[in-house]
Amino acid sequence: MTKTERAEYNRVYWQKNKERLGPAGRARIKQWQLDNPERVLEQTRKFKAEHPEYQSEYMKRYYRDNKENFAEYHRQYRTDNIVAMTAYGKAWYKRNRQRVKSAVAQWQTDNPEKVREYSNKKRVQKAQSGGSHTIEQWQQVMAEASFRCMSCNCIDHLTRDHITPLSFGGSDHISNIQPLCRACNSRKHTASTDYRDMSMRYQDGQ
Ligand SMILES: [Zn+2]
Repeated sequence: MTKTERAEYNRVYWQKNKERLGPAGRARIKQWQLDNPERVLEQTRKFKAEHPEYQSEYMKRYYRDNKENFAEYHRQYRTDNIVAMTAYGKAWYKRNRQRVKSAVAQWQTDNPEKVREYSNKKRVQKAQSGGSHTIEQWQQVMAEASFRCMSCNCIDHLTRDHITPLSFGGSDHISNIQPLCRACNSRKHTASTDYRDMSMRYQDGQ
């Protein structure tokens, strides 16, 4: 048995017997892992390379099963770090403005019908409610929110949420727009919830 085969054997053995080996066995393994960080890294890398499906499935399942915990964790994190996060988002946008701009330009070239649809919708909304915003302003608002949903902090696809809904006379001006994920946006319906309240308060130092 080569060294690599031995390591593989140990790994499989452990997977099969970890329940039986119990806390003492687990503690021994944990200690070994602490003593051999580079070996752990190497094994992890090898395992990931050999089982890409396991990794992504596992992560997906883990995220799904713990979604509420993640959401709560991120909500709390955001509350605790709102000033730093907003500053980071602003600085990031400043550094990457050109990149964002050219990505937007590329997207517009690739999706002419969506651009048309968007500008049509925008024209109608502007006529109805007054105010409008540019795609660049929208990008900036997302960047300032660190590209996270302002309600649950997830990084799913972000949608424009009108804080005061258009149907209630809200404007399409950027000051009435906040990024929410699809789930939060549809959950919100026509309620008028300004998730930016918190960050504004913190920014004002109140
Ligand atoms: Zn959300």
